[in-house]
Amino acid sequence: MEAYSAARDLVSKGDYVFLDANENPFGTWNRYPDPLQIDPKTILAKIKGVEVANMVMGNGSDEILDLVYRVACNPQKDEALSLAPSYGMYYTLANLNDVKFNEVMLNEDFSFSTQRLLNAVTPNTKMIIICSPNNPTGIAYPTEQIIEVVKNFKGLVVVDEAYNDFSGVESCINYLKDYDNLVVIQTFSKAWGLASLRAGVGYMSKELAAMINKVKLPYNMDGFTQKSLVEKLQDVEGFKRTVKLLVSERDRFMANVATLPYIEKVFRSDANFFMIRTAKHKELQQYMINNGVILRSRHGMPMCDNCIRITVGTPEQNDLAFRLMQKFGK
Ligand code: PMP
Repeated sequence: MEAYSAARDLVSKGDYVFLDANENPFGTWNRYPDPLQIDPKTILAKIKGVEVANMVMGNGSDEILDLVYRVACNPQKDEALSLAPSYGMYYTLANLNDVKFNEVMLNEDFSFSTQRLLNAVTPNTKMIIICSPNNPTGIAYPTEQIIEVVKNFKGLVVVDEAYNDFSGVESCINYLKDYDNLVVIQTFSKAWGLASLRAGVGYMSKELAAMINKVKLPYNMDGFTQKSLVEKLQDVEGFKRTVKLLVSERDRFMANVATLPYIEKVFRSDANFFMIRTAKHKELQQYMINNGVILRSRHGMPMCDNCIRITVGTPEQNDLAFRLMQKFGK
């Protein structure tokens, strides 16, 4: 297909008189934003050790996922494959794009079997989506295992690293140079603390990035978001401090919760949340809501019977939640 073109594609950045796009000449946010988000990408490319041409930015990482589906899969014919339980949006986006969605169950300990995953590939499987650290289990898979999948599958392997910053596990971004079927998706909504801005980023081969940039809506990331990202990206030290605090809070919160007699299991976590299992999950969730704290029930998802997912908050929020959980047990 031919990409949508704007007159501004004809010029590089500069001081022009813009009479081309029917904007209002007055105001602060009156101009259309850069469709290729070059300013935030340039800074991020340096931090991540990739080139701008390897990147796609979008309205949250959900948009990037949707774009990968749209570019990689023919509706009503091609299929996507993922692990279960995992992030529900993979299934929703498959439905939205009229793509058949297949799943392979995780192992009992929430690891996955490379062989079972690859055995589930059909002639129509165009992409495999792996969420690591996984939502809702919280567990990161070894990078070598994911790369093993990349090596043994011809289609795209999309690795959703929304929570990688909390994990200490090597990002798959380091393997982009070696595999052109690898796509890594990250977000500003978690460790960067910018969920309200809606900013996600995909790292991939230059060929695929060019294709997606052609397909996406031209102004998919607004100017305020681009400017805010440029500002936020100056403070990598602040970002690291926040991640460190949240990881230590996670471990403290988990250790506290593990002492409660009605909690059957606290699952290991590499993310900024953790899962617990208790037969009293319904009553606990309601009690917490009654006291102003919302937890996420994951009961009903495969392998998550009686499970609740808890996001790590500020130290004060975690203390409050833990005190309530103690009271609930009495
Ligand atoms: N991937 C995973 C695994 C998530 O949990 C989430 C948010 N819940 C997202 C992607 C989407 O994040 P966003 O669209 O805010 O970037």
